[in-house]
Amino acid sequence: MAKWQYTKGLHDLGNGCFAYLQPDGTWGWSNAGLIESQGETLLVDTLMGVGLTRDMLDEMRRKVPAAKKIGRLVNTHSNPDHVLGNQLVTDAEIIAARATAEEIAAMNPQGFVNMVDNWEAMGEGGKFFHETMGSKFDFTGVKITPPTSVFEGERTVRVGDKTVQLVDVGPAHTKADTIVYVPSDRTVYTGDILFNESHPIMWAGPVANWIRACDYILGLDVETIVSGHGPIADKSGVRNLKRYFEYIRDEARQRFEAGMGWEEAGRDIALDSFRGWADEERIVANVFTLYREFGAELPAVSGPGLFAAMERYRQHRHAHEH
Ligand SMILES: [Zn+2]
Repeated sequence: MAKWQYTKGLHDLGNGCFAYLQPDGTWGWSNAGLIESQGETLLVDTLMGVGLTRDMLDEMRRKVPAAKKIGRLVNTHSNPDHVLGNQLVTDAEIIAARATAEEIAAMNPQGFVNMVDNWEAMGEGGKFFHETMGSKFDFTGVKITPPTSVFEGERTVRVGDKTVQLVDVGPAHTKADTIVYVPSDRTVYTGDILFNESHPIMWAGPVANWIRACDYILGLDVETIVSGHGPIADKSGVRNLKRYFEYIRDEARQRFEAGMGWEEAGRDIALDSFRGWADEERIVANVFTLYREFGAELPAVSGPGLFAAMERYRQHRHAHEH
């Protein structure tokens, strides 16, 4: 039986570590974290929009009085579901790996609003965005609020009497991916280096870095692993993710060498061993990134372009289920 319930809201992990969970963990429904010690606080990530983040901060402040003042915010990476509420904690030191900070600073919040409004004119990618995110999240009122404090590699911060280690294990999911490790509590917040019980999406790669990141986490003395999406995990969740990447890397390579196209390869790879995981269509984006790694001449990654491919994957799956 799972040790932690997968329910919406703030979960007390004990000793000043908290996880804020947003089931069902699919597109945009990310997790965040709070670390409190001796009246000092560190927030791990904000959420997909101002309203969701405000609700989260309200609940944190009700249950953890010290959270009235967020001293530090760490953005684990630059995806919108981890940063679009940054503007609510501008009094905090906002920390991120350098590449993450650069990606956040380059975001255009109006772009999300335009996609929400104009999805019908944007083809398959627009439909995919609308169904997975555009119809579910409020992107209005966002003021991009980039990190104020950047690091490269690793940084250690103190929160009250806790030592908290920030380690950039990327590029993997994005150009930089920071995990937040609290050794004294045997707890790690992984950001999207761990998708638990859903398919990960590898926007950046290389896959070897993500596998190495899994090994890094498996080598830590940790018991509680707060994933970026999905239920709170233990090391078995990380082992499963590592197995997924080794498997799709090898399967994609065979198809690449046989001359199969990336989209077809994404549809062709059997995912029976991961059948219970959500967001299966991400295989197409992952194979795209792997093919580029293998040397295929493909255009640079673009979210909307891959959304269209994932929409075609869903339609293909749907057609073959009936
Ligand atoms: Zn995410």
